[in-house]
Amino acid sequence: MTFRVLEGTSVAAELRSEAAREAAGFLAAFGRPPGLRVILAGDDPGSAVYVRSKEKAAREAGLAAETLRLPSATTESELLARVSEANRDPSVDGLLVQMPLPAGIDARRILDAVDPAKDVDGFHPVNAGLLQQGRPRLVPCTPAGIMELLARSGIEVAGKRAVIVGRSEIVGKPMAALLLAGNATVTIAHSRTHDLPAVCREAEILVVAIGRARFVTADFVRPGAVVIDVGINRLEGGLAGDVDFESVRAVASAATPVPKGVGPLTVAMLLKNTVRAAVSRVKPHPLTPSPGGEGKSH
Ligand code: NAP
Repeated sequence: MTFRVLEGTSVAAELRSEAAREAAGFLAAFGRPPGLRVILAGDDPGSAVYVRSKEKAAREAGLAAETLRLPSATTESELLARVSEANRDPSVDGLLVQMPLPAGIDARRILDAVDPAKDVDGFHPVNAGLLQQGRPRLVPCTPAGIMELLARSGIEVAGKRAVIVGRSEIVGKPMAALLLAGNATVTIAHSRTHDLPAVCREAEILVVAIGRARFVTADFVRPGAVVIDVGINRLEGGLAGDVDFESVRAVASAATPVPKGVGPLTVAMLLKNTVRAAVSRVKPHPLTPSPGGEGKSH
């Protein structure tokens, strides 16, 4: 069987140039570019790298991007005040608070404070709920990027058996909602799943997001399956995915590599989401709160 490497980089480049065209259209129509604000609290080295690449990609696409850097001693109430400022700032269309947060800050409280209309990570419960109801607004970037990769690689989702390993709010659960909306038959597996390899072998589309280096090997893969590796694990020899790529390529019909697989799609979808947020702030979504972020009072 022929095996195809599903490069995320080329699809990500397409998505980025689409976002750039859309951003230019927004600038022409409204006299300002879509604006992205990233809040980075603390000095996590991985976060600093991610934030720089998001900011650079956003600028390259013609967005107005700025990062607010806060010290690791920042308190929860200080961070909430910064989120609230960004919620009120009309030049900010997309707001993202980089995780992880410094010790002592409740991430859930911070994410819940982001205006859902500006929530370009798609982590706010309003956006998560809309996605579950099949009326997506701002969708988490990594699973949204995977759907673009599948569609643009000509991989049909409708009617397929899909298994997702991992049930996080940022990858596993929204991935399941998107595949279900695409009419796949979806199973979510996790650390308590019995006989995980057998469950995975049912999958025509297998998405792995667990954070365990090269955990998924050929014996998890149904012949001809498409394998999407979300994992990013830092090992001494460099980055590794959750899938043992060399092992699964003997069985699968296609798989994403790590690096250059899913990672670049995440950043590209952030740009798309920022433009989408900007457009829907000028053409409000029915659930978008009025300016000030408080919603209508009844
Ligand atoms: P997470 O919040 O840590 O969740 C991990 C999930 O995997 C949990 O649901 C957990 O099950 C499950 N799991 C852990 N060990 C398992 C095992 N041995 N067998 C079966 N299931 C297992 O992870 P995440 O945030 O979704 O991230 C997952 C991976 O994707 C990480 O490597 C992360 O760095 C990477 N990631 C990459 C991107 C990208 O842009 N490429 C974006 C986001 C995340 P329980 O729920 O039962 O504990």
